[in-house]
Amino acid sequence: MELTKTRTEKRNNTQTLCCLIRHYMELEKLVPLSSFTTWKVGGPAELLAEATNQKELEWLIQFAQRKKMPWQIIGAGSNLLIHDSGLEGLSICLRKLQGSEINRESGYVEAMAGESIPSLSRKVAKAGLHGLEWSIGIPGTIGGAITMNAGAQGGCIADRLDSILVVTLDSKEPFRLYNKELQFGYRSSRIQNEQLIVLSARFRLEPGHDQNFIQKQNNTNLNHRLQTQPYQLPSCGSVFRNPEPLKAGKLIENLGLKGKRIGDAEISKKHANFIVNNGSAKASDIDKLIRLVQKEVEEAHQLLLHPEVKRLGF
Ligand SMILES: Cc1cc2nc3c(=O)[nH]c(=O)nc-3n(C[C@H](O)[C@H](O)[C@H](O)COP(=O)(O)OP(=O)(O)OC[C@H]3O[C@@H](n4cnc5c(N)ncnc54)[C@H](O)[C@@H]3O)c2cc1C
Repeated sequence: MELTKTRTEKRNNTQTLCCLIRHYMELEKLVPLSSFTTWKVGGPAELLAEATNQKELEWLIQFAQRKKMPWQIIGAGSNLLIHDSGLEGLSICLRKLQGSEINRESGYVEAMAGESIPSLSRKVAKAGLHGLEWSIGIPGTIGGAITMNAGAQGGCIADRLDSILVVTLDSKEPFRLYNKELQFGYRSSRIQNEQLIVLSARFRLEPGHDQNFIQKQNNTNLNHRLQTQPYQLPSCGSVFRNPEPLKAGKLIENLGLKGKRIGDAEISKKHANFIVNNGSAKASDIDKLIRLVQKEVEEAHQLLLHPEVKRLGF
């Protein structure tokens, strides 16, 4: 998978650009974003496009810049609360920007930003590579996981990440940023604060492990999630960051808020840091529930819970 551009590719890029201009109408208008989020809420995108390769992504950003319209990146939408009135400008979804290369001898893995986390986790397990077992149940993309520094069971994406290729508004070529340059913290990274778009990622995993053992570990982790989290209902995973060393879920549960509902949005009876959509919840119901939890926790503990979930359009 060669991601840096050669001269021929640059020529092709111009052709692709012309081709896409001709196919401008393929940018879909007023697409309901509820089908692009795991909460199944969110109003329409003024314009929506799903990039399947680097050139399309670059063209889309240039298009938005030329038209001076706002744009935003959506991965699998598993950490997003999108407003009921939708999003202005161009929403660029990257879940179709897929592909991965796995080197079972060296342990190096290259994955495109739209590759799904559970799928990559299964593929590397099959190759006997250790290091992503914690991630098996996270329903996001690699790009979203890096942006969020997703983590579980003591592991996080930053642990095994070597580097990423990024695209920016100003860069003529994608360029590489190494782990140390990404300022990873608890569910945070430099990507959240700058207009950097993750195009692909390189991981360094541990080669030579027994694939059955790793697959067993994956299954154990997945079963643990199924038992402790409400996986059958639309959600966004944990809504609030843990105010370390305290657990947000425990604080919410102790206030008797499990099962509290606004519209069809409910604080899960199974895990108090999850808000589930029981069918026809609106983003505004979820937002109100988030604020209610913040208010109750603050009154009881003089502590403000910060949402882990990213709000778009609010
Ligand atoms: C059932 C469930 C369980 C979950 N469990 C966990 C868990 O255990 N641990 C955990 O950390 N999270 C968990 N999550 C939350 C979520 O899956 C992760 O945060 C995930 O990494 C988000 O990836 P995404 O592709 O869905 O990103 P999105 O939700 O689409 O986007 C999140 C943010 O990343 C940005 N972004 C996405 N892709 C890119 C890109 N390529 N370049 C630049 N910016 C980008 C978006 O603009 C947005 O700001 C869970 C969610 C659900 C629904």
